[in-house]
Amino acid sequence: MDLLVVGSGFFGLTIAERAAAAGRRVTVIDRRAHIGGNAYSEDEPETGIEVHRYGAHLFHTSNPTVWEYVNRFTDFTSYVHRVYTTHKGVVFPLPINLGTINQFFQAAYTPDQAKALVQELAGEFDAKDAANLEEKGIALIGRPLYEAFIRDYTAKQWQTDPKDLPAEVISRLPVRYTYDNRYFNDTWEGLPVDGYTAWLERMADHPNIEVKLSTDYFDESQPLNKKATVGQVPVVYTGPVDRYFDYAEGELSWRTLDFEQEVLPIGDFQGTSVMNYADADVPYTRIHEFKHFHPERADRYPTDKTVVVREYSRFATRADEPYYPVNTADDRAGLLAYRDLAKGERDVHFGGRLGTYQYLDMHMAIGSALSMWNNQLA
Ligand code: FAD
Ligand code: UDP
Repeated sequence: MDLLVVGSGFFGLTIAERAAAAGRRVTVIDRRAHIGGNAYSEDEPETGIEVHRYGAHLFHTSNPTVWEYVNRFTDFTSYVHRVYTTHKGVVFPLPINLGTINQFFQAAYTPDQAKALVQELAGEFDAKDAANLEEKGIALIGRPLYEAFIRDYTAKQWQTDPKDLPAEVISRLPVRYTYDNRYFNDTWEGLPVDGYTAWLERMADHPNIEVKLSTDYFDESQPLNKKATVGQVPVVYTGPVDRYFDYAEGELSWRTLDFEQEVLPIGDFQGTSVMNYADADVPYTRIHEFKHFHPERADRYPTDKTVVVREYSRFATRADEPYYPVNTADDRAGLLAYRDLAKGERDVHFGGRLGTYQYLDMHMAIGSALSMWNNQLA
């Protein structure tokens, strides 16, 4: 073995694939019983509808290197992601756009009129100096829209006062003064034609790659554990960075999600793939209806059944799957301490969402793995 990769998510598999293509022998271990990390998906057995087990995953990128790379393993459908939100029993389009604004104010504003109105409503804060999520939200869209669509959704998603959350959390949500309601701004988007798992398996399908599942790096009863491998073979580690150092600098905080999945005896539950629930009286943040991610599979999906998943968000304990880094000031200090410790580890390379404590979209995880391979490992 020339390289040990801990974790078979997109980061680990990209490293493994590049190393194998360069003639290195690679072993990938994962503590889960399946490959692919959080992008893993499987067909719901009763309906055959593809369900993303760890939350809906939409691929999008503007990075030509990443787009060329991922197309070696899968084709993409022409799916374009759109999200709607329900507020006080009425459905509005997201991200906030001219359609949302006109529906909310029961008006027919032109782009310039809507901009002038929002500017007037947003006057209390300046987006450039916004110190936290609440100030940023109000600066971007004004208080009435912020309170309707952002405040309570964010409180459900983070269970943290928006005044204590970093402004960047909502920078990902554009505000548009047109009727364009594409969720992403990227050049390319789509879903893998044969599903995520087929894509991930193709990345690992190389005679130089061996994958061992249900194998935990910290389990000393299995031979490829931390004690036995560090300093003996180069390691790419994509598990949680605090766990690697046995929480020596404290625990980094994460949010986890609970998914409540149901097969319903109807053809169509909500007419779209994702419906957010903006109000505090609904305990879940959103409902996913998975058949709508693949309209091109209409002839093979049932017309009298559908799969819906309600998503609930809460703080993660050590026993939970970590999903979103919370990134409080304490977390940022902890992360710096772990980065110092990581520098001292001989030939151990920390990568991916958990290994760097960073929210990374799939294209970012793949892009940073390609950089790590090219710049450090190759
Ligand atoms: P992961 O996929 O988390 O893989 C890490 C792997 O390491 C896991 O398989 C884990 O089991 C393994 N591991 C951990 N510890 C150990 C250990 N001790 N021993 C062995 N193995 C271990 N991105 C998008 O681009 N679009 C989206 O729409 C999108 N939606 C998302 C929705 C949710 C709810 C979440 C949480 C993420 C979403 N993402 C999305 C991000 C996407 O999941 C990540 O970009 C991607 O999973 C990152 O890959 P990774 O390899 O860094 O991490
Ligand atoms: N957000 C919101 N209302 C919505 C959707 C998003 O307030 O209807 C805010 C919320 O704070 C969320 C952030 O925008 O955490 C990012 O939303 P996105 O949908 O990109 O998050 P993800 O899909 O990763 O959960």
